[in-house]
Amino acid sequence: MPAGSAPSWRMESDRVGGLARRLRLTTAARRAIVRGGFITLNYHHADRAGLAAHLAYLSARFKLVPLEESLEPVATRAHGRPRVAITFDDGYRDVYADALPVAETWRAPIAVFVVTRFVGTDNQFWWDRLQAAAAGTHRRSIDLAGHTHLLEGAAARARFCATVSRCVRTLPSPEAATLLERVIAELVDSAVPSTSSAPGAQLLDWPQLRDMCARGVCVGSHTETHPVLSRLRPTEARAELERSRETLATHLGTPPEFLAYPHGQPADVGQEVVALTRAAGYRAAFSTVSRPGPAKQDADRYFLPRTPADTREPINVLALRVSGLWPLVAWLRRYFAGG
Ligand SMILES: [Zn+2]
Repeated sequence: MPAGSAPSWRMESDRVGGLARRLRLTTAARRAIVRGGFITLNYHHADRAGLAAHLAYLSARFKLVPLEESLEPVATRAHGRPRVAITFDDGYRDVYADALPVAETWRAPIAVFVVTRFVGTDNQFWWDRLQAAAAGTHRRSIDLAGHTHLLEGAAARARFCATVSRCVRTLPSPEAATLLERVIAELVDSAVPSTSSAPGAQLLDWPQLRDMCARGVCVGSHTETHPVLSRLRPTEARAELERSRETLATHLGTPPEFLAYPHGQPADVGQEVVALTRAAGYRAAFSTVSRPGPAKQDADRYFLPRTPADTREPINVLALRVSGLWPLVAWLRRYFAGG
């Protein structure tokens, strides 16, 4: 699920990043914090111009490497050039249509994590349905969890979608599904039907994934249905991990080595799921926790860090994200926002 930085936050980060670059803080931080380390970037969608700009910036400062290199021990690389691996979550079609040609031009290895039950279908993820419904609604407000939420303007709608997403991720599955369907039904009821489809939400199919494998793309599992794994019973979580692996092996010829946890924060995963992932046969698994550097011990191999990235973000923001300064910037923002 895309982290979805709001346009206002993107502009604010652009200014902070621009200042940090002018003061050469991003360069100093990269040398001090990242050094010869490893950063795995986590994209969802790609536009050609945005990704080309990102890869131009990255290739001048980092070595663009395949995901497998994230497993190399720290000691062997401590003084080399810092390395970056590029990943895309959820399996959107623009990874094939737009990211792959650009990545090939820049000789940048990429990895894509797909949700196997959605591959080759017209299904849409719940967050895409929610965003499309919110974008197309004619309602001015909606009640949720005892509060009235305003829906006028893109920023208010983005805030509302973020609130619903938080509720959906923290409620037990049946309650979350009921809440989500109620919200979408209320939004769509007063929407013009033709505006309620989600542009850019189309997903990859198996022939595209086979072609990507043949062209060197690493295809990993993002589970079968993209649940919050920590909220499932162990038998259900195991089925998500094992069945998605089997499905990928059936369609692509070999089982995936890597998994990306849906949502990917510690509360979305949990120790039990980490153990199940190891037992299911994966070689490593990625979180969405942002921290530069490779695994420090074997246990970390099943909760490797990734730094969020978005091809719509300006280079100043990317510079902050890959300098090792990003967690500090995000913390300062939360601190000054009062939470
Ligand atoms: Zn996802």
